[in-house]
Amino acid sequence: MHDDAPYGRSGSSRFMTKKCPECYTYLPLHTTKCPSCQTKLGDVDKLGFASRTFDWAGYLIAIVSILGFVVFMWWGFFRD
Ligand SMILES: [Zn+2]
Repeated sequence: MHDDAPYGRSGSSRFMTKKCPECYTYLPLHTTKCPSCQTKLGDVDKLGFASRTFDWAGYLIAIVSILGFVVFMWWGFFRD
């Protein structure tokens, strides 16, 4: 498995830049965060756009806060 080599011939290395999918700014390939809109960026895709990295921490925080709210509401209404 050498597909993730930085300059491998996997088809994604022909771009010199990648485009931010949020604000369409051209960025160097190694950039991991858009300086304009703060979007986290992954590797360049076939179209020259940077892929978005999945923000697990953000998702977890959102899920936990929603669950906390639901439990709080349930607890508040059905406790006694
Ligand atoms: Zn951006």
